[in-house]
Amino acid sequence: MRLKDQVVLITGSARGIGKEIAKTFANEGATVIISDINAASAEATSEEFKKEGFNSSSFACDVTSMKSVEEMINKILDNYSRIDILVNNAGITKDNLLLRMSENEWDAVLNTNLKGVFCCTKAVTKSMLRAKKGKIINIASIIGITGNAGQANYSASKAGIIGFTKSIAKEFSSRGITSNAVAPGFIQSDMTDKLTDKAREEIFKTIPLGKLGTPKDVANACLFLASSEADYITGQTIVVDGGMAI
Ligand code: NDP
Repeated sequence: MRLKDQVVLITGSARGIGKEIAKTFANEGATVIISDINAASAEATSEEFKKEGFNSSSFACDVTSMKSVEEMINKILDNYSRIDILVNNAGITKDNLLLRMSENEWDAVLNTNLKGVFCCTKAVTKSMLRAKKGKIINIASIIGITGNAGQANYSASKAGIIGFTKSIAKEFSSRGITSNAVAPGFIQSDMTDKLTDKAREEIFKTIPLGKLGTPKDVANACLFLASSEADYITGQTIVVDGGMAI
């Protein structure tokens, strides 16, 4: 019960990696707030967790809108009076080679992946500053470190998250708030489930540990950063990629 009585907000947690982070945290005693742009799927995930005996609630929120984020944070603070841990997980891809990349593809990815982290962190840290404690965990990507052809928008957004994480760590360390990032590599997902065996083999050749990561691998790194075991760690990025970026 490493997160007993902690109130945790996880963005984009109706499905995928965010849902696994929420489940992992709930298993450790946290109250998990499932936030997603899709209200119905956020509620469905929260109901699923409640049936398993976890403390959970759901809030619809579009992280690209400061207004939407502030409304959600105000409602959460009305209900729980505090947010101990924020996991900025919501993220999208809109891949294209740079010369074919539209302004919309650039803006959508930067707005969701990077502006979303700004909006949620700014709104949540106000209450963390009052409490003089808090943990912020940002989901970046290995692509923010290595770059990737066809993902200039995504790579820029995730590299931006790593810089943001360090800056926030410097701003808030003296106030008891830590800020860290997790950079996953190739993680089992709806997308990787559709890969052919040949494509899968080609990917495995680039990963020293020879397999895809799982959402649980990412959630475990987040759990460590969220726990008191990581109290003396801030401004860091933990890479969870099976050694791919070595
Ligand atoms: P998914 O697409 O499975 O889940 C993302 C969730 O975020 C969805 O529920 C989605 O809602 C929600 N979302 C999208 N836009 C918004 C928004 N504007 N406001 C609030 N919620 C939103 O993604 P993954 O689980 O695969 O990825 C989670 C994070 O991990 C992302 O930041 C991603 O970049 C990162 N990552 C993933 C890797 C992977 O291999 N999967 C590798 C490296 C990093 P909806 O479904 O309704 O659109």
